[in-house]
Amino acid sequence: MRPVNKGPIPTDTSGNEINFHKYQDARGKLIERLGETCSYCEMHLDSSLAVEHVTPKKPEGSDENIQERELDWHNFLLACPNCNSTKGNKDVVPDDYFWPDKDNTFRAFNYSEGGIITPSIELSAELQSKANATIELTGLDKRPLNDLKASDRRWLNRRDVWNIAVRTKDLLSQNDNDDFRELTVYTMTGHAYWSIWMTVFQDDSDMLQRFIKALPGTADDCFDHNGIPIQRRGGQV
Ligand SMILES: [Zn+2]
Repeated sequence: MRPVNKGPIPTDTSGNEINFHKYQDARGKLIERLGETCSYCEMHLDSSLAVEHVTPKKPEGSDENIQERELDWHNFLLACPNCNSTKGNKDVVPDDYFWPDKDNTFRAFNYSEGGIITPSIELSAELQSKANATIELTGLDKRPLNDLKASDRRWLNRRDVWNIAVRTKDLLSQNDNDDFRELTVYTMTGHAYWSIWMTVFQDDSDMLQRFIKALPGTADDCFDHNGIPIQRRGGQV
Protein backbone atom coordinates (compact mmCIF):
# COMPACT_ATOMS: atom_id res chain seq x y z
CA MET A 1 0.00 0.00 0.00
CA ARG A 2 1.65 3.22 -1.17
CA PRO A 3 2.29 5.60 1.75
CA VAL A 4 0.95 9.03 0.84
CA ASN A 5 1.06 12.58 2.01
CA LYS A 6 -2.03 14.53 1.00
CA GLY A 7 -0.71 17.78 2.47
CA PRO A 8 -2.50 20.47 4.46
CA ILE A 9 -6.11 21.56 3.96
CA PRO A 10 -6.27 23.10 0.45
CA THR A 11 -6.64 26.88 0.21
CA ASP A 12 -8.62 29.08 -2.15
CA THR A 13 -7.14 31.80 -4.39
CA SER A 14 -7.02 34.20 -1.42
CA GLY A 15 -5.03 31.72 0.65
CA ASN A 16 -7.91 30.79 2.98
CA GLU A 17 -8.55 27.16 3.93
CA ILE A 18 -11.42 25.74 1.91
CA ASN A 19 -14.52 24.72 3.91
CA PHE A 20 -15.97 21.84 1.94
CA HIS A 21 -19.76 22.07 1.92
CA LYS A 22 -20.09 18.59 0.46
CA TYR A 23 -17.42 15.92 0.82
CA GLN A 24 -17.63 15.26 -2.93
CA ASP A 25 -16.18 18.75 -3.48
CA ALA A 26 -12.84 17.50 -2.12
CA ARG A 27 -12.47 14.89 -4.86
CA GLY A 28 -10.62 17.13 -7.32
CA LYS A 29 -8.11 18.31 -4.71
CA LEU A 30 -7.54 14.74 -3.50
CA ILE A 31 -6.85 13.56 -7.06
CA GLU A 32 -4.51 16.52 -7.60
CA ARG A 33 -2.58 15.59 -4.42
CA LEU A 34 -2.71 11.76 -4.63
CA GLY A 35 -3.27 10.84 -8.28
CA GLU A 36 -6.15 8.81 -9.71
CA THR A 37 -5.58 5.65 -7.71
CA CYS A 38 -7.35 3.91 -4.87
CA SER A 39 -5.51 4.64 -1.62
CA TYR A 40 -5.87 1.02 -0.48
CA CYS A 41 -5.61 -1.38 -3.45
CA GLU A 42 -3.76 1.11 -5.73
CA MET A 43 -6.00 0.40 -8.73
CA HIS A 44 -6.02 3.19 -11.30
CA LEU A 45 -9.52 4.59 -11.81
CA ASP A 46 -11.12 7.75 -13.11
CA SER A 47 -14.85 8.40 -12.79
CA SER A 48 -15.60 5.72 -10.19
CA LEU A 49 -12.91 6.86 -7.75
CA ALA A 50 -14.73 8.16 -4.65
CA VAL A 51 -13.86 10.30 -1.65
CA GLU A 52 -13.25 7.79 1.14
CA HIS A 53 -13.85 8.54 4.82
CA VAL A 54 -11.29 6.79 7.04
CA THR A 55 -13.73 6.86 9.95
CA PRO A 56 -17.16 6.51 8.31
CA LYS A 57 -19.36 9.57 8.01
CA LYS A 58 -22.35 7.46 9.01
CA PRO A 59 -21.16 4.55 11.15
CA GLU A 60 -23.24 1.39 11.59
CA GLY A 61 -26.12 1.98 13.95
CA SER A 62 -26.03 5.76 13.49
CA ASP A 63 -29.09 7.58 12.14
CA GLU A 64 -27.34 10.49 10.57
CA ASN A 65 -24.02 11.66 9.20
CA ILE A 66 -21.42 12.94 11.65
CA GLN A 67 -20.53 16.29 10.11
CA GLU A 68 -17.02 16.60 11.61
CA ARG A 69 -16.13 13.34 9.90
CA GLU A 70 -18.05 13.98 6.73
CA LEU A 71 -16.28 17.21 5.79
CA ASP A 72 -12.85 16.83 7.45
CA TRP A 73 -9.93 16.92 5.01
CA HIS A 74 -7.85 14.89 7.48
CA ASN A 75 -10.43 12.09 7.32
CA PHE A 76 -10.32 11.80 3.50
CA LEU A 77 -8.62 9.36 1.17
CA LEU A 78 -9.63 8.02 -2.26
CA ALA A 79 -11.15 4.57 -2.77
CA CYS A 80 -12.37 2.30 -5.54
CA PRO A 81 -15.89 0.77 -5.32
CA ASN A 82 -14.51 -2.59 -4.10
CA CYS A 83 -12.41 -1.23 -1.23
CA ASN A 84 -15.15 1.26 -0.38
CA SER A 85 -17.92 -1.32 -0.21
CA THR A 86 -15.81 -3.91 1.66
CA LYS A 87 -14.80 -1.37 4.29
CA GLY A 88 -18.39 -0.13 4.44
CA ASN A 89 -19.56 1.75 7.52
CA LYS A 90 -17.63 -0.23 10.12
CA ASP A 91 -16.87 2.25 12.88
CA VAL A 92 -13.13 1.69 12.97
CA VAL A 93 -10.75 2.64 15.78
CA PRO A 94 -7.96 4.19 13.66
CA ASP A 95 -5.11 2.92 15.86
CA ASP A 96 -6.19 -0.68 15.24
CA TYR A 97 -5.23 -0.42 11.56
CA PHE A 98 -2.54 1.05 9.32
CA TRP A 99 -3.39 4.01 7.08
CA PRO A 100 -1.52 5.13 3.97
CA ASP A 101 -1.51 8.80 5.06
CA LYS A 102 -0.24 8.07 8.60
CA ASP A 103 1.96 4.97 8.48
CA ASN A 104 4.61 3.62 6.17
CA THR A 105 2.11 1.18 4.69
CA PHE A 106 4.68 -0.06 2.17
CA ARG A 107 6.66 -1.42 5.11
CA ALA A 108 3.62 -3.04 6.69
CA PHE A 109 2.75 -5.47 3.88
CA ASN A 110 4.51 -8.01 1.74
CA TYR A 111 3.59 -8.32 -1.95
CA SER A 112 4.44 -11.59 -3.63
CA GLU A 113 4.09 -13.50 -6.88
CA GLY A 114 0.50 -13.82 -7.95
CA GLY A 115 -0.39 -10.45 -6.40
CA ILE A 116 -0.78 -11.85 -2.89
CA ILE A 117 -0.70 -9.35 0.01
CA THR A 118 0.29 -10.51 3.52
CA PRO A 119 1.57 -8.75 6.65
CA SER A 120 5.32 -8.15 6.58
CA ILE A 121 7.07 -10.84 8.64
CA GLU A 122 9.55 -8.19 9.78
CA LEU A 123 6.90 -6.63 12.00
CA SER A 124 6.26 -7.57 15.62
CA ALA A 125 3.34 -9.94 16.25
CA GLU A 126 1.20 -7.01 17.43
CA LEU A 127 1.88 -5.00 14.28
CA GLN A 128 1.35 -8.05 12.08
CA SER A 129 -2.11 -8.41 13.56
CA LYS A 130 -2.85 -4.75 12.72
CA ALA A 131 -1.59 -5.39 9.18
CA ASN A 132 -3.90 -8.38 8.98
CA ALA A 133 -6.83 -6.36 10.28
CA THR A 134 -6.15 -3.72 7.59
CA ILE A 135 -6.06 -6.36 4.85
CA GLU A 136 -9.38 -7.79 6.06
CA LEU A 137 -11.00 -4.37 6.47
CA THR A 138 -10.37 -3.50 2.83
CA GLY A 139 -10.74 -7.03 1.40
CA LEU A 140 -7.20 -7.15 0.02
CA ASP A 141 -7.09 -10.85 0.96
CA LYS A 142 -9.93 -11.76 -1.39
CA ARG A 143 -8.99 -14.35 -3.99
CA PRO A 144 -11.04 -16.20 -6.61
CA LEU A 145 -11.20 -19.45 -4.68
CA ASN A 146 -12.97 -18.00 -1.67
CA ASP A 147 -15.20 -14.99 -1.69
CA LEU A 148 -14.26 -12.96 -4.74
CA LYS A 149 -17.18 -11.33 -6.51
CA ALA A 150 -17.09 -11.29 -10.29
CA SER A 151 -16.98 -7.50 -10.18
CA ASP A 152 -13.98 -7.52 -7.83
CA ARG A 153 -10.93 -7.68 -10.09
CA ARG A 154 -8.39 -6.42 -7.60
CA TRP A 155 -6.59 -9.72 -7.08
CA LEU A 156 -6.60 -10.57 -10.80
CA ASN A 157 -5.26 -7.13 -11.66
CA ARG A 158 -2.45 -7.49 -9.13
CA ARG A 159 -1.52 -10.90 -10.49
CA ASP A 160 -1.40 -9.53 -14.05
CA VAL A 161 0.60 -6.45 -13.06
CA TRP A 162 3.05 -8.61 -11.10
CA ASN A 163 3.76 -10.56 -14.31
CA ILE A 164 4.10 -7.34 -16.34
CA ALA A 165 6.55 -5.91 -13.80
CA VAL A 166 8.67 -9.09 -13.86
CA ARG A 167 8.73 -9.06 -17.67
CA THR A 168 9.58 -5.34 -17.75
CA LYS A 169 12.48 -5.93 -15.36
CA ASP A 170 13.72 -8.73 -17.56
CA LEU A 171 13.56 -6.46 -20.64
CA LEU A 172 15.34 -3.67 -18.74
CA SER A 173 18.20 -6.03 -17.87
CA GLN A 174 18.65 -6.69 -21.60
CA ASN A 175 18.39 -3.00 -22.62
CA ASP A 176 19.70 -1.14 -19.62
CA ASN A 177 19.95 2.54 -20.44
CA ASP A 178 18.44 5.80 -19.23
CA ASP A 179 15.70 5.88 -21.90
CA PHE A 180 14.50 2.39 -21.03
CA ARG A 181 14.50 3.29 -17.35
CA GLU A 182 12.31 6.30 -18.12
CA LEU A 183 10.03 4.10 -20.22
CA THR A 184 9.80 1.65 -17.28
CA VAL A 185 8.43 4.48 -15.12
CA TYR A 186 5.74 5.18 -17.75
CA THR A 187 4.92 1.47 -17.85
CA MET A 188 4.51 1.52 -14.06
CA THR A 189 2.28 4.62 -14.07
CA GLY A 190 0.16 3.15 -16.90
CA HIS A 191 -0.47 -0.11 -15.06
CA ALA A 192 -0.58 1.33 -11.51
CA TYR A 193 -0.13 -0.94 -8.43
CA TRP A 194 2.98 0.98 -7.38
CA SER A 195 3.73 -1.38 -4.45
CA ILE A 196 4.09 -4.31 -6.83
CA TRP A 197 6.66 -2.42 -8.93
CA MET A 198 8.52 -1.35 -5.78
CA THR A 199 8.67 -5.01 -4.73
CA VAL A 200 9.71 -6.51 -8.08
CA PHE A 201 12.45 -3.85 -8.52
CA GLN A 202 13.55 -3.96 -4.86
CA ASP A 203 17.22 -4.61 -5.72
CA ASP A 204 17.41 -1.68 -8.19
CA SER A 205 17.71 1.47 -6.11
CA ASP A 206 17.73 3.77 -9.17
CA MET A 207 14.32 2.44 -10.28
CA LEU A 208 12.98 2.61 -6.70
CA GLN A 209 13.89 6.29 -6.54
CA ARG A 210 12.25 6.92 -9.92
CA PHE A 211 9.04 5.17 -8.79
CA ILE A 212 8.99 7.15 -5.54
CA LYS A 213 9.13 10.41 -7.54
CA ALA A 214 6.74 9.30 -10.28
CA LEU A 215 3.29 9.65 -8.69
CA PRO A 216 1.76 12.64 -6.90
CA GLY A 217 1.61 12.35 -3.13
CA THR A 218 4.00 9.47 -2.47
CA ALA A 219 5.40 10.04 1.04
CA ASP A 220 9.11 10.18 0.16
CA ASP A 221 10.03 10.52 3.85
CA CYS A 222 9.10 6.83 4.17
CA PHE A 223 12.24 5.83 2.21
CA ASP A 224 15.99 6.34 2.56
CA HIS A 225 18.16 7.65 -0.28
CA ASN A 226 18.39 4.13 -1.74
CA GLY A 227 14.61 3.73 -1.79
CA ILE A 228 14.59 1.35 1.19
CA PRO A 229 11.48 1.78 3.39
CA ILE A 230 12.05 3.29 6.82
CA GLN A 231 9.84 3.96 9.85
CA ARG A 232 7.47 6.87 9.21
CA ARG A 233 7.76 9.80 11.61
CA GLY A 234 4.68 9.74 13.85
CA GLY A 235 3.50 6.45 12.31
CA GLN A 236 3.05 3.02 13.87
CA VAL A 237 5.31 1.48 11.24
ZN1 LIG B 1 -9.33 -0.16 -3.98
